[in-house]
Amino acid sequence: MQDPIGFLRYQRVEAGKQFARARIRHWHEYEQIMPVRQASVQAQRCMDCGTPHCHRYCPVHNLIPDWNSLINEEDWYSAWLQLESTNNFPEFTGRICNAPCEDACTLSIGSQPVTIRSIELAIVERAWQSGWIKPQPARRKLFKRVAIIGSGPAGLACAQQLARAGYRVSVYEKSNRAGGLLRYGIPDFRLNKSVLERRLAQLHAEGVRFRCGVHVGYDLDFAALLRNQHAVVLACGAEQPRTLAVRGMSLHGIHFAMDYLTQQNRRVAGDFLSHEIAIDAGSKQVVVIGGGDTGGDCIGTAIRQGARQVTQIQYHDRPPDHVDKLQYWPQPVPEWHANDHDVEGCQHVWGYDTVAFTGQGGAVDGVVLQKLRWVKSADGRWQKQRLPGQLRHLPVQLVLLALGYAHPTHAGLLEQLSAGFDARGNIATSEDGFMTGRHGVFACGDARRGQSLVVWAIREGRQCAAAVDRWLSGNSQLPTV
Ligand SMILES: Cc1cc2nc3c(=O)[nH]c(=O)nc-3n(C[C@H](O)[C@H](O)[C@H](O)COP(=O)(O)OP(=O)(O)OC[C@H]3O[C@@H](n4cnc5c(N)ncnc54)[C@H](O)[C@@H]3O)c2cc1C
Ligand code: SF4
Repeated sequence: MQDPIGFLRYQRVEAGKQFARARIRHWHEYEQIMPVRQASVQAQRCMDCGTPHCHRYCPVHNLIPDWNSLINEEDWYSAWLQLESTNNFPEFTGRICNAPCEDACTLSIGSQPVTIRSIELAIVERAWQSGWIKPQPARRKLFKRVAIIGSGPAGLACAQQLARAGYRVSVYEKSNRAGGLLRYGIPDFRLNKSVLERRLAQLHAEGVRFRCGVHVGYDLDFAALLRNQHAVVLACGAEQPRTLAVRGMSLHGIHFAMDYLTQQNRRVAGDFLSHEIAIDAGSKQVVVIGGGDTGGDCIGTAIRQGARQVTQIQYHDRPPDHVDKLQYWPQPVPEWHANDHDVEGCQHVWGYDTVAFTGQGGAVDGVVLQKLRWVKSADGRWQKQRLPGQLRHLPVQLVLLALGYAHPTHAGLLEQLSAGFDARGNIATSEDGFMTGRHGVFACGDARRGQSLVVWAIREGRQCAAAVDRWLSGNSQLPTV
């Protein structure tokens, strides 16, 4: 039973983070896990609304008011059962979800939202510590085989659901380790890789076979794979980065964000990287072009590598300090908040376009920026206009492009199987399911949806598993969210 006035009695208190000056000296996670006692108190702030928008706006529809109520009653085990019924990997979302649920929390209108993400993490970590999370192998094995291409959160969620339903599941991954962007995109200071290993061990014990270092479409012919499988799921992510078409792009020292982040994740994992290919921000003036999680991870990584200065360039204006929340709620409110990397020393240039890079001896030494004005066109869309003469020049020795991802890579696998694409270049699937134009070939995650979030990838993986199960067995007991 919820405390009816808990939201008046208690203030929002966050889980806590290590101080910036200390955390930039290492690669470990710096956000703390909320202690059990604190999580119980924070859960009492939940108003248990008649219409829980948090639940609706969580892509996997986590039963948030229910677990808040259960941990309030000290029934952590039941809270865990609720949580795992909707989310295969709450230890990932509990750490790195952008938490649309908190934007939609009713309390956020006049106060601060419930600390939903931290409570989720507290529940799942308590479950791991208490030994409640065990492999759940299928009681009855089916003879049907499913291959999943890609081991990011979409592929892993799909694999786990299908293995638990009895299918013989193999996950093919082109990298040398499983995990997708959880492994080589998101840095250890936000998601320690031991958290991923722990979950992969569970999948392994449930019968999922991992074939790492196999690039389907190159090392393995797709037609040959399909001949040996009853169904194939494409969970190969959206890996095609957006780029800039400006003067000086071929200068040495300009890199895509993922090339940079992958290297650092490999270094932390103990892999050897030769000096010739190493991208290192140490003692350099670094410019990160673009925002989002990718931009943030580049900034945090450059700061930890010992960059002299890190500046983020974004083409939109700085968000206002305050807006009328009711105009936006339950969607995210576009207000300015200092983020973790601002506290660590990142600087910003707002409202500028990158128009050229300058260099000497083949290496980049500067970026030329031009001020933008945003105007609404006749059809109501915002358009950028460069303001003549308003140029800036920043000295730079390393440029990281974090401009987002256009769609999955078409060359190789997707061209081989003639999958069919939607207008944005993502894999097209049937409207009522996840099947592509090829019989028995399904798609899920960023490859189908376009670049998105981990929690959406988990949802897609779960829904796709149910679609595969329905197609192979005629019906399915697997949950559809
Ligand atoms: C730097 C960065 C930071 C991010 N931070 C966050 C965050 O904080 N919170 C959040 O919610 N989301 C974040 N995201 C987004 C999130 O990581 C993705 O939405 C999510 O990982 C998509 O999952 P997926 O399984 O569809 O694809 P991916 O995670 O991209 O996995 C696809 C996998 O398929 C493999 N693959 C591709 N082609 C083949 C092939 N032909 N053969 C074999 N294997 C293949 C790839 O190697 C990869 O491992 C971030 C993204 C990036 C790039
Ligand atoms: S998965 Fe994300 S949106 Fe859902 S409850 Fe957790 S933090 Fe909120």
